[in-house]
Amino acid sequence: MNRLSSQSRELAVLERDHLQQLLDVLGKRGYRVRGPTVRDRAIVYDDLTSVADLPVGWTDEQDGGTYRLKRRNDGALFGYAVGPDSWKKFLHPPVVRLWRAKPGGNGFQIIEEPEAVPKSAFIGVRPCEIHAIAIQDKVFLNGVYRDPLYEARRRGLFIVAVNCSHAGGTCFCVSMNTGPKARFGFDLALTEVLEADRHYFVAELGTELGARILGEVPHEAAGEEEKAAAERVVAKTASEMGRRMYTRDLEDLLHRSYESPHWDEVAKRCLTCGNCTMVCPTCFCTTLEDVTDLTGEHAERWRKWDSCFTMDFSYIHGGSVRASAMARYRQWMTHKLATWVDQFGTSGCVGCGRCITWCPVAIDITEEVNAIRQSVGRS
Ligand code: SF4
Ligand code: SF4
Repeated sequence: MNRLSSQSRELAVLERDHLQQLLDVLGKRGYRVRGPTVRDRAIVYDDLTSVADLPVGWTDEQDGGTYRLKRRNDGALFGYAVGPDSWKKFLHPPVVRLWRAKPGGNGFQIIEEPEAVPKSAFIGVRPCEIHAIAIQDKVFLNGVYRDPLYEARRRGLFIVAVNCSHAGGTCFCVSMNTGPKARFGFDLALTEVLEADRHYFVAELGTELGARILGEVPHEAAGEEEKAAAERVVAKTASEMGRRMYTRDLEDLLHRSYESPHWDEVAKRCLTCGNCTMVCPTCFCTTLEDVTDLTGEHAERWRKWDSCFTMDFSYIHGGSVRASAMARYRQWMTHKLATWVDQFGTSGCVGCGRCITWCPVAIDITEEVNAIRQSVGRS
């Protein structure tokens, strides 16, 4: 896919009523279109066939351990922050069968899983989520070993980003420099603008393919007023961040804080449930599970998401390396914010706030960093 340079990116205007045509064009081109929708009183990612499937007129309230949907007093299509799902569930599925085996010859015959993955179009990818996908690209595609399952799903992916018009109560993308405006990694980026008598999107072209697809949908070149309106949307969101992460010297701070007494304090609250790792869009750990039927004639190997909060995760001969909750929380946070940089050249946190919202006891990574700073006497 040819990416447009940031200098050559054009801005267009797409009226709200033409968004359905964009979904239709993607469907006709063979994409499986996925995006946000309301289910079980949360905004999750699933198949989309119509604009009506989007969370029209919904917003959310988020805080530590709190998530609630609320009606807006307008018809915004993207007037909410990220929910419990991230796009990783499509690119790096939670459960996948790797192979089956049955008796054959002198032993077993392995039957590989067919890998027919339809190409996907993701609608409504937030800027922090684009950063999360870029981080998983590094993990799965840029190392010595490439993950073929991730590669098959990532190949041909069409990304329609949506710049944020609403900051969630636990968002801190501004401090992590990942939002609320998408700057790379998309085919099209939309900013939703709601005015008293008009509802439209300012669309930025990110790739040649994005330009071709937009070319099949009615649109016009954006005027100065419309461009300024889109900028105001993003600037307002940036000013309304729910949280802030103090990132100064963060890696160094954490590398020097292994003995901080604050790890014991947070361990008293942490349930080691692993929710934070499941909702995090960058966490990538997996385990393997082999199962057989009762006859022993059929065996399967499955790959499943795992969490560094389980005892088994660090089990080696003789026991678990991280036997205490303190050791497991410390490993998770120092990996996210410090050793991830050593490993992959980037932070493992994009400031989406999910681990704060979905922690049942409201442990807050931004607050824990502040407490660690205080515990070792650095402001
Ligand atoms: S920090 Fe919260 S979400 Fe994560 S393991 Fe502990 S209790 Fe569970
Ligand atoms: S560590 Fe928390 S805030 Fe950071 S990317 Fe993961 S879920 Fe989002």
